[in-house]
Amino acid sequence: MGSIIYGPVPSWRLGRSLGIDLLSTKGKTCSFDCIYCQLGRTVQSVAERSEFVRLDKLATELEKVKDIGADYATFSGVGEPTLASNLGEAIRLVKSVLGLPVAVLTNSSLMTREDVRYELRLADAVVAKVDAPNEKMFRQINRPITRYTLTEILNALKLFRKEYHGKLALQMMFIEANKDYALEMAKIAVGVLPDEVQINTPLRPCRVKPLTPAEIATIRREFTSLPKVITAYEAPKPDVMPLNLMETLRRRPKDSQQQRR
Ligand code: SF4
Repeated sequence: MGSIIYGPVPSWRLGRSLGIDLLSTKGKTCSFDCIYCQLGRTVQSVAERSEFVRLDKLATELEKVKDIGADYATFSGVGEPTLASNLGEAIRLVKSVLGLPVAVLTNSSLMTREDVRYELRLADAVVAKVDAPNEKMFRQINRPITRYTLTEILNALKLFRKEYHGKLALQMMFIEANKDYALEMAKIAVGVLPDEVQINTPLRPCRVKPLTPAEIATIRREFTSLPKVITAYEAPKPDVMPLNLMETLRRRPKDSQQQRR
């Protein structure tokens, strides 16, 4: 296993983001196998939580990056961070050592679990993925292995919104398959009431082509009733140099100036 901490990376959503990968597995470990995933196919399809890295190892790495400048310490990496059963303890540890705001990027697949929602409440920002307007497209785009339906996940997100006082952002990835469903996706966002909607399209190399700036602008127009909407083409991206390029590229392959997360 390499290091748990990577970056900082420039994030169009979070500024200078220091990555924490609580999975750190050799290949991707995820409860989804999204058709646009930049990490390639899911190597370990996992739907149950377990411990992947020990907190004492994380504590040792945190000591080494104590003085690093970043806007957020962000739980992300080679898969779905809520699969780590020690996520809550890790959030507490990161906050106490680094003193940075903590964000978690999640695919929302385990939001139905009370323990996951409880642990996510410890974060300052939660970025939750919703890409599909209906169950059929959920299976087609995200290819979940969890038993939860899209309806159950959306209901859990609404519940989380009521419980959570931090910043909740909904990330919606638009590709050819769902680009004509912007109105339905906007209605989903209105139902969840996030602080922010992040309209994304896969700008880093993967098996799916990104939508054009004009297509994303058309999609954005359906979201005018939401209080804050940003898109991958509009948001600024800070300049930042990662501590360890290899460990960063493992989580963000072939990043380039035009590619944003
Ligand atoms: S949820 Fe994220 S890591 Fe998992 S398959 Fe989808 S894009 Fe890849």
